[in-house]
Amino acid sequence: MHEYSLAVDLMESVLTTAKENNAKAVNLISVKVGRITHVNPAQLEFCLKSIGDGTIAENASYSFEYIEPEIRCVCGYAGKPNETADDLDMLEYLVSLVCPLCGRNTEVIGGTELVVDSIDID
Ligand SMILES: [Zn+2]
Repeated sequence: MHEYSLAVDLMESVLTTAKENNAKAVNLISVKVGRITHVNPAQLEFCLKSIGDGTIAENASYSFEYIEPEIRCVCGYAGKPNETADDLDMLEYLVSLVCPLCGRNTEVIGGTELVVDSIDID
């Protein structure tokens, strides 16, 4: 599963940070999810919980924030793509990332991140 390997990396960075701060428990894990990663937060949370089981993060709650995509076009436009529908699959979605000014295909400059934004520890 796509989400599982991503969750392994995320949990690793959470536990590393927690350890560096001598945490006894991780209470909250905030994750930024770029919409273009096509990660399903419910599945990601499920994976994180199963990986975190038996660690100091086993009782953590999760919060997910979506990052909207941003594009840059050769015509000079930079910002939101033409369309930001929620339930398109990734291929359709990437195809929809055309410039709202000139209709060209664009370079994606944001919305592909998947990072731990912050954690709350004891
Ligand atoms: Zn353009």
